[in-house]
Amino acid sequence: MDTEDLRLAVYRAFAGTGRAPEPGELAGQLGADVQEVATGLDELARGRHLALGCDGQIVMAHPFSAVPLGFSVMGARTLWWGGCAWDSFALPHLLPGEDEVLVATRCPACSRPHAWSVGRQRPPVGGQVAHFLVPAARMWDDVVHTCAHQRLFCSEDCVSDWLAATGSPRGYVMDLGTLWRLAAHWYDGRLDRGYVRREPSQAAEYLRGVGLSGSFWGL
Ligand SMILES: [Zn+2]
Ligand SMILES: [Zn+2]
Repeated sequence: MDTEDLRLAVYRAFAGTGRAPEPGELAGQLGADVQEVATGLDELARGRHLALGCDGQIVMAHPFSAVPLGFSVMGARTLWWGGCAWDSFALPHLLPGEDEVLVATRCPACSRPHAWSVGRQRPPVGGQVAHFLVPAARMWDDVVHTCAHQRLFCSEDCVSDWLAATGSPRGYVMDLGTLWRLAAHWYDGRLDRGYVRREPSQAAEYLRGVGLSGSFWGL
């Protein structure tokens, strides 16, 4: 079984249905047995194409998530868990036929609900801010924890309240426009055959290009 076939099957299932495929489905689709699928998923997880849970189940295939992390993303006919703020804002850029999706969440500090129509043409309007807790160099230490702490807040004041309430160190705060630019092309190519992750120097160039800076991003 070709690992790229497996990667594509996982990504395309998430894209089309909003949920993670079961190993048995993948095995049937690829003409492989479940053990081969499990071995392939492990390999993809080592390559950071997926995050697996303790039973080997698919938890994330960025920007897709099989578990709730604070966001929902509603398309024309499909509903996705949005992953984090970054992942949720990325989905309309990645999904064919989903020019504009509805991203919804609650402020982690005060529970106020927020929703935005997020499309490909321009950032949504709003004074809310994103706060990312885990610095870029540590994001893959526990990527599900990392994504669970990349959230959208009402304002800088709500970020400060949440940091004080949880005893967390301040991470990185960005406005909606910066988040949208970060999300717009970060995941380009993940639904296509032959996807290759960016080299660190290319990633740094992309991050600088969307307006990020500082040691949080390793820039
Ligand atoms: Zn708030
Ligand atoms: Zn994420």
